Amino acid sequence: MNCPKCQSTQIIKYGHTHYGKPRFRCQACGRQFVEDATRQPIEDATRQLIDKLLLERLALAAIARVTGVSQRWLQMYVNQKFYQTPKTIEVTQKNQVG
Ligand SMILES: [Zn+2]
Repeated sequence: MNCPKCQSTQIIKYGHTHYGKPRFRCQACGRQFVEDATRQPIEDATRQLIDKLLLERLALAAIARVTGVSQRWLQMYVNQKFYQTPKTIEVTQKNQVG
């Protein structure tokens, strides 16, 4: 498992969320996070297929069904690809954690 922020593998367990999911903390950057299904590894071939389907202007729900990825992951992927605003995202996430 890698840190979602800095990709470090220096991850320690850090209690649980209210929903009983194990929570983790990155010792490198201090980021706290929950292991998430949206972080499932997606193969390059699948990403390339998704890129093609996006160009066809298919709905995200349809692309998710065809490629077998979760809609949440797909939304995140599209956001990263087309709306890269890392600083804004980082601030938002910190507010949510607090
Ligand atoms: Zn980190």
